Amino acid sequence: MIINREICVGCGCCHPYCPTHAIYFEDLKSVVDQDACYECGCCLRVEVCPVGAIEEYPDVYEYPRALRKYFSDPNATHALTGIQGRGTEESKTNDATNRCGPEEVGILIEVGRPSIGMDLMDIQKITRALVKAGIQEMEPHNPFNSMIQDPSTGDLKPELIGERVLSAIIELQVKRDRLRHILRTIKKVTRKIDSVFCLDVITQLEPGLKVPQEVLDAIESEGFSWRPNAKINMGLGRAWE
Ligand code: SF4
Ligand code: SF4
Repeated sequence: MIINREICVGCGCCHPYCPTHAIYFEDLKSVVDQDACYECGCCLRVEVCPVGAIEEYPDVYEYPRALRKYFSDPNATHALTGIQGRGTEESKTNDATNRCGPEEVGILIEVGRPSIGMDLMDIQKITRALVKAGIQEMEPHNPFNSMIQDPSTGDLKPELIGERVLSAIIELQVKRDRLRHILRTIKKVTRKIDSVFCLDVITQLEPGLKVPQEVLDAIESEGFSWRPNAKINMGLGRAWE
């Protein structure tokens, strides 16, 4: 995002709406720090500027800057998935798609959040650690995969290092007996991450709406606490055969 200095009146109304504090005063006008801005669009969307001085960065859809927008603006449709958001729809629709079967778990590693964001260098630390530990079951449709230069090392494309986004998600789908090993690997590498992260484990429930004991044992034995979180199917979706 940019601010047109010619018409900005320096009222500061836009500053509180930037989740990453990228807008600052310079000579009584507001300026956007282009390194810190991750193109979430919030300052423009709230329509607080009394003079219309906030404008989209001219190259916002040019690669690699476009990735900031795709991974940070909830209204932006990702060029690769054709959907809005940073991941695929699969983890949210599993009760209809049956994509993650009874012997499997899905794993989402969500790095970064509004107000802190994340540097893609950090996510490379995770992909490298996963590959080094022999974990390569990446969800093929996740837009994040397009950032990987070399699947045999987990290295990202060099031009992406230094880019910032609000958050990104690494998605895996594995057999349940791999869960423990993966959780241990993730736990080790996240100590090196300079952002917040959230770890999701997706599983089908057993009769009585119980989380499978094998899944719980793996989570707890690796020292993670957990809380249930469900996407409720209101009956409009039906399980695919
Ligand atoms: S687009 Fe988002 S990150 Fe960039 S200046 Fe506006 S609110 Fe801040
Ligand atoms: S709201 Fe508009 S006029 Fe006020 S500081 Fe921000 S860009 Fe400038």
